Amino acid sequence: STPGGQRAREEKIVVTVRLRPLNKREQSSKDQVAWECIDDHTIVYKPPAQERAAQPASFTFDKVFGPTCLTESVYEGVKNVALSALMGINATIFAYGQTSSGKTYTMRGITEKAVNDIYKHIMNTPERDFRIRISGLEIYNENVRDLLNSESGRNLKLLDDPEKGTVVEKLVEETANDDQHLRHLISICEAQRQVGETALNDTSSRSHQIIRLTLESTLRESSDCVRSFVASLNFVDLAGSERASQTNAEGARLREGCHINLSLMTLTTVIRKLSVGKRSGHIPYRDSKLTRILQHSLGGNARTAIICTLSPAFSHVEQSRNTLFFATRAK
Ligand code: ADP
Ligand code: MG
Repeated sequence: STPGGQRAREEKIVVTVRLRPLNKREQSSKDQVAWECIDDHTIVYKPPAQERAAQPASFTFDKVFGPTCLTESVYEGVKNVALSALMGINATIFAYGQTSSGKTYTMRGITEKAVNDIYKHIMNTPERDFRIRISGLEIYNENVRDLLNSESGRNLKLLDDPEKGTVVEKLVEETANDDQHLRHLISICEAQRQVGETALNDTSSRSHQIIRLTLESTLRESSDCVRSFVASLNFVDLAGSERASQTNAEGARLREGCHINLSLMTLTTVIRKLSVGKRSGHIPYRDSKLTRILQHSLGGNARTAIICTLSPAFSHVEQSRNTLFFATRAK
């Protein structure tokens, strides 16, 4: 298709930005729009009249999506990453942004559209047998919880398996019978996450959710294992990025109950090092639960897409800038 699309396909990390509309609360408090997408690649800081003295700024990405763009278009920007998992290439799609910027809204839509496309591909590929498994987990204060099994407790162990890499002990993995069943299992994960939210105030801004599909296929009438594909496709709804923006916390403040989120900080370091490339040296995957779990779906031969979500509101300008700085470093 377009030269931009071609370039995006070859890049290791695809970075896009989505600017949501002003919400009702922002409208009723007379908050103003501070950002504008002036074309498909450029987002510009446009301070309201009384703030004109402030520095204007413009940021450029593979793709930026303005407030009228549908999730359908946003999905088009990450589709190749998602579908590569059908060819045996591990893939991860993140939503990154401050609380209330649209991460969950976007990730739900992206997951739904990817599931549609996966089953379309299966229909169009009668020569192969497919098997799809799903697991769901939440990381809250570096504790891992199973979203498909509410009985399993809040602190599942991570184990190092010589073949599979890091695995979550006792994590339930269900095989999907068909697309409807898969959608049902995804909705169980989403409902479980909300149970946590009401029990513990503010969880969704502090927790990471991973929905992992394992896509396996073999050529029919063939026992030749070279003809098999297996890969993970991870949909990751991250904790609010405000949890990564204080830079001077250390020691005890990194532990439970504090403002800083170890998994999110480690992820930003890992992403930054991956985007620099081979010469970035040691990549600290093992420093957090999130990066350990995703290690084999990040870097190496894996494909990664990050959708950075932004509130357009003037009152959120500092966080929006931080998100755009992260997005710029991830490119
Ligand atoms: P987050 O997960 O980042 O905290 P949410 O996805 O919950 O944010 O979004 C916050 C609110 O904004 C929700 O009510 C959601 O429906 C709405 N919203 C988010 N993105 C959009 C969008 N692109 N268009 C319309 N409404 C949106
Ligand atoms: Mg959310």
